[in-house]
Amino acid sequence: MKQHTLHRVLIAFLLLAAPVAPCFSHELQTRHATVVYQQEDQLLRFNHRISVTSFSRHKKDARAITVSDEVRSKLDSIIEKIEVLLHVYPGDLKFNVLLTTAADVQRHYKDYYGIDNEYIAFYCRQNRTVFISVDDVNEYVLAHELTHVVIDQYFRDPPSATMQEVLAQFVETHIEF
Ligand SMILES: [Zn+2]
Repeated sequence: MKQHTLHRVLIAFLLLAAPVAPCFSHELQTRHATVVYQQEDQLLRFNHRISVTSFSRHKKDARAITVSDEVRSKLDSIIEKIEVLLHVYPGDLKFNVLLTTAADVQRHYKDYYGIDNEYIAFYCRQNRTVFISVDDVNEYVLAHELTHVVIDQYFRDPPSATMQEVLAQFVETHIEF
């Protein structure tokens, strides 16, 4: 009897702890990132909200550029800008970007860190994932979070959380699009 109860509890726990990834059925691979999302529309909205001038100039010459191409180009271009600004070039940069809602971003943050907040984006070191609220993001917010990725993956011994935040805010303020 006790065994059964334990078994049920264990199953309940496993169900609760199941990864969210299976819900995120869409996947886009860029040079550095794997972007995951639930609906095609989320990628369209994300692309619409991230404005990168150098990409728009380049776009005029191209004939059939898809939304996926645009997102790939924008993400890679922002990473390059961050690397140039900070003079750090991680050799093999790999991370995930999860496009979702603000409520889901906040739920994930609470799951990982046990703290309530109203964040619209954050980078989780444990699984190298940037969680993003699609309807709140812009190129500056994205650059801030991608700076956390670059710093985390460049330094063998990452700087303190305070120093990482200073660097992310420096990039957010000085990056040009
Ligand atoms: Zn930050």
